[in-house]
Amino acid sequence: MTLHDEVGLPAGSSVLPDIHGRSVEIEDMDWNEELQAFTYECPCGDLFQISMEELEAGEEIAHCPSCSLYVRVIYDPEDFSQKASLPGPEPILVA
Ligand SMILES: [Zn+2]
Repeated sequence: MTLHDEVGLPAGSSVLPDIHGRSVEIEDMDWNEELQAFTYECPCGDLFQISMEELEAGEEIAHCPSCSLYVRVIYDPEDFSQKASLPGPEPILVA
């Protein structure tokens, strides 16, 4: 019986710097009016994007549309909960 040695770092762990699994705080992202999304620079030159809708839905992965990379967005869901983010036209009763 041989056990696979799965403890410790793989031998080739110093290959390409891989952004997979990387995290970025929402404060470090930029709001992009045009895209209506928070964006963050991707190494490929495009932008990671996550929309307000996705944040409200609890999504935490910002994808780059030009490559397969993504980042996990660190944010406080309460800041983006649907209750908190309603633009707030208060219901007005019209007689
Ligand atoms: Zn990219």
